[in-house]
This record gives sequence, C-alpha cells and structure tokens, in this order.
Amino acid sequence: MSDPLLFELGAPGRKGYSLPDLDVPAKPLKRLTNNKYLRNKPADLPEISEPEIIRHYIRLSLKNHHVDKGFYPLGSCTMKYNPKINEQLARLAGVSHVHPFQHKITIRGALQLMSELSDYLEEITGMDGITLQPAAGAHGEMTGIKMMRTYHESKGDARKKIIIPDSAHGTNPASATISGYETVQIKSTTSGLVDLNDLKQQMNEEVAGLMLTNPNTLGLFETQVQEIAETVHHTGGLLYMDGANLNALMGIARPGDMGFDIVHMNLHKTFSTPHGGGGPGCGPVAVQKHLVPYLPEPLIDLTGTDWNRPDSIGKVQTFWGNFAVMVRAYIYIRMQGAKGLREVSENAILNANYLMRKLEQNFLLPHTQHHMHEFVISGDKQKMSDIKTLDMAKRLLDFGFHAPTVYFPLIVHEAMMIEPTETESIETMNAFVDAMIQIDKEAEENPEILKNAPYHTPVSRLDEAQAARKLNVNYYQR
Ligand SMILES: *Cc1c(COP(=O)(O)O)cnc(C)c1O
Repeated sequence: MSDPLLFELGAPGRKGYSLPDLDVPAKPLKRLTNNKYLRNKPADLPEISEPEIIRHYIRLSLKNHHVDKGFYPLGSCTMKYNPKINEQLARLAGVSHVHPFQHKITIRGALQLMSELSDYLEEITGMDGITLQPAAGAHGEMTGIKMMRTYHESKGDARKKIIIPDSAHGTNPASATISGYETVQIKSTTSGLVDLNDLKQQMNEEVAGLMLTNPNTLGLFETQVQEIAETVHHTGGLLYMDGANLNALMGIARPGDMGFDIVHMNLHKTFSTPHGGGGPGCGPVAVQKHLVPYLPEPLIDLTGTDWNRPDSIGKVQTFWGNFAVMVRAYIYIRMQGAKGLREVSENAILNANYLMRKLEQNFLLPHTQHHMHEFVISGDKQKMSDIKTLDMAKRLLDFGFHAPTVYFPLIVHEAMMIEPTETESIETMNAFVDAMIQIDKEAEENPEILKNAPYHTPVSRLDEAQAARKLNVNYYQR
C-alpha cells in the first residue's frame, strides 16, 4: 500500500540525465555567496534514474482520484473534464513567461485577451463592468461585498446586515462577516426556494443586500427571483448573486436580466480550469453600471490599464490576477462559441435530471421538481438500516467513483449533492446508477459491508479531522 519515499529509492551516482563528458578545462563556479553560507558537505539528496522517478510519481497520482481518472460527481463544484488543449496553450512560452512589468508594447496580446474575456463574461452575465482580479470564488464574494459596502457608504450609510438563505454555501456568510456585516439567515420553503414572506419581513434600511445563489445549492432555479430583486431594491438594498457555478445558465438566462447588481463566477469551475487542492483559481466579479466606479483598480482594456479610479475599492490581488486561468477560460469560450456554451448548459441540466430520475427509485428525493445542473438526494431511507450517507460515500470509492458532496446543503438530512456535469457519457452515468443501486441493496441486506468500506483504496477510513490537521510530512520523524 505505501510507496517508498524518494530517499529510499535509487543509489549513489544514479541520475536522470546524461550529458557528454566535459571536453574543456573544468572551472570552479564563481562564488556568489558569502562562504559562511556554503554547505560543508553535499546535501543529502536522492539520486534516482528517470524511470524510477517517473514511476514513483505516477504511482502516487494513481492513489488519488482525479477527474482524468474517473467520474467526479461533486455537487456545487463542477468537476467537469477540462480539454487538454487549454493546458497546452496556457503553457506556451508567450503566455506562461509573460510579465506585467514588460514594456507595454510587448503585453498588448495579454491585455487584449483579458479585455475580450471581460467582454465575453459581461455578455454571459448581462452586466456592465467586470474585474478579473479575485483569485477564487470566495475572494470574488469578498470583493463584491466590499463594493456593496463602498456603494452604501457613498450614500451616507454602510448599513449593518446582509441576508443569506439557509441553503447558501458557507463562503457567503464568511465573506459578509469579513467585510464587517452581520448576517441574517432566511428560511427556505418546503419546495426548496427562498421564503419570500420571511424575506419581506427581514428587509429594511439596515440591510445592505441579499446574497443569493441561482440556481440555489439544491440545484433549483429561484423562480421568484424578479420579485426577490424588487423586494431587496425597494429598501435600497443590493442583490448579490453567487454565480460560482454558471453551468446551468450560460446562453439561457443572465443574472443581469434577473435583477442582480453583482455576480461573481468561478472560471475554475464553469470555464474549464482544473481545480481542487486549492490550486490557482479566478473569481471575476461583474457589476451593473451603478457599481462600476467601485471595481478594483486597475481596469483593463485594449489600450492598457486604467488606474485613475478615485472611487475604486483598490487592488485585491497582485498585478492583474491569475492570468493562466483566464487564458484557459478564454480558449474555452472561443472554442465553444455562443451556441456551444448554451449546449454545455443544456447538457449539464439534462445529465443531472437523467441521473436524478434514475436514482429517485432507490433514494429519497426531497425536492421532486425538475432540477438544473445538480440535485440533492437524502440518505434517510438507508438511515433506517443504520447506514449513514458517509458510509455510502465511502463505498462508492470501491466502485472507482469519487463521492458526491455530502452533508451539504445543511437543510437536507444525510444530504448527497450530485452534479454530473455535461462532459459525462450515458455509459458513465449508468455505471454510477448501478453502483448506487447496489449500495442501496447492501444497506438492506448486508449493512456491515458499507460500515467498513472502502476496501479497494490505498487507505481505508481515516480520522477525517486529524488526518487533515495533524499531517506528518517529516521523513526524519517517522
Ligand atoms: C465553489 C463555490 C464557492 C467558493 O468558490 P471557491 O473558488 O472555492 O472560493 C462559493 N459558492 C458556491 C455556490 C460554490 O459552489
């Protein structure tokens, strides 16, 4: 199960390169450093041949599940397959070696790319202005809420509260709190949508705005969104959309047309940058006209960068943000075109509803209407056999599938939130359904199997909290 460390592999003198013998006199390296900083003896580094090191890393990569290896139905995360050509193009030297301090003339292409990407994203969201700077969705939320705050301050009062539905992603209350607001939770109705009456009661002039996810994290479209917008605007509040996931909307509906004032999106979800493990992301924030003055500086267009923005909330990220992620998104949008993006959304919705209708025969489906790009089932039926959703999630790993998002959103008992994305074939989805049906059968007939799963992974059940918080990565303390 365990793989030797690099230090345990190889042998002295082994190396992963071969160079011709020196045919000129050897010259000592010029000392660039003060002698006192030099080692007395060579560092104790592994000496390894190329096949050994390649196999080592391939073996390690196979211990993990990843989207290039198998189905990854992680709800609210859009783990779609990312076209490899995006990677190749993002790694071209002209893209990966470019630096913002280069002379203006030499970065025109990069500015053009960012400027065109901005135009596309404004068109997709129906907004008037945008920043590409934020490095992730949560960072985009914070940027958006800071703009909301500055907007209210310019009217004389920053206000005190932000309203957030109980189905929201945990980053929403975090972003509101870190921007100095008190959060107020509103309930969902039994059909999984915002409770408009509750919202109307909570709205007053202390409320800076409402953060709404649409489709919400149950995968349901908030059909009353226009009335919600009117309610929020009536007392001078702003409507923020958590658009981390635009997989259900592209080419079909636009946040700007629904009445949202601010929306962030995750290029690393919808627009095909591989993500996970906290890797580089990009969380652009688009706004309506009345908020454009507050966008982070500088703004970017074809002619360069505009720093002359007295009302801006300032910079939120170094230079222009995570450029390589923007490059992948730009390529993805250009390759899909308007028609292709709409098809992405249509297929994401079709796949989710196909899976949902297959699974509802064996699992409890709390919200039975058609969904958008994801849906949430409950493990309450299997709970009667003393099986937790966690047990089922672990068992799925034995079938070669990543588990769905579990225990979120909080308003569904024993939740399993499933998002197949548009890139999965019907064969993959059917295989997933078969695995889920078998798991349901095991819950009834032989629950012990589930309680001790998984069996075919490099490690079985870990202490979920300690494994993440008490990593021992020190070779010498083993
Ligand atoms: C993923 C996600 C976020 C957070 O995005 P990060 O890039 O992980 O910070 C926020 N809201 C929703 C609905 C999401 O799915």
